[in-house]
Amino acid sequence: RNPDVWSAVDGYVTDLLAPDDEALTSALSASDQAGLPQIAVAGNQGKLLYLLAKTQGARSVLEIGTLGGYSTIWLARALPEGGRLISLEYSEAHAEVARANLSRAGLDGIAEVRTGAALETLPKLAAEPGAGPFDLFFIDADKKNNPHYVEWALKLSRPGSVIIVDNVIRGGAVLSGEGADEAVTGTREMFEVVAREPRLEATAIQTVGTKGYDGFLIARVLS
Ligand code: SAM
Repeated sequence: RNPDVWSAVDGYVTDLLAPDDEALTSALSASDQAGLPQIAVAGNQGKLLYLLAKTQGARSVLEIGTLGGYSTIWLARALPEGGRLISLEYSEAHAEVARANLSRAGLDGIAEVRTGAALETLPKLAAEPGAGPFDLFFIDADKKNNPHYVEWALKLSRPGSVIIVDNVIRGGAVLSGEGADEAVTGTREMFEVVAREPRLEATAIQTVGTKGYDGFLIARVLS
């Protein structure tokens, strides 16, 4: 384990391949100034989200967990003309920062932030005429609800939709059974939901970097 090397390598990769431009830099500094926690995805991870959305040809994205909109900007930038992103955020204060950041990035017309607990805003969204199906889901909110978020994503998906769940390794704590915190318990339940769901094919990848030792799950909807 050498977190200094992990961070240095992230810096090397990010500087060369995924540098923050002005809108992304301002999004992070405005988030810091507003006192938001520094828990956005790293730059090279944001670029991965962007590349996955582009590779899939996503036209619609549903994000759960906006924070200051850093990952939202990466994802919204991957969308073609007429594309749409909805991001769900519990905290009104976080959403306000995110809206200003999205606006500064010129993404007002593409990305929309809705506030409230996602388990309350998801059924409202699903009841709207024309809501979904979404091509790509990025789940990065309260980890204890991850099993429910994956189930909602499935409901709002189409065959070929992609579901990405962040922070699923948790420094290896995902292996802990009894006595684990609710983020770990929720993550393990989410793994079980995905594993037994015949409509999903999936894997999870461990990562190291500026965000420590963690990882993400990626699933594709079959039918
Ligand atoms: N995706 C963001 C990024 O990479 O830039 C980071 C999101 S941060 C890890 C998690 C966010 O989820 C926080 O802003 C938190 O307020 C929000 N959150 C927590 N519980 C939630 C809930 N029940 N519904 C919606 N959002 C929630």
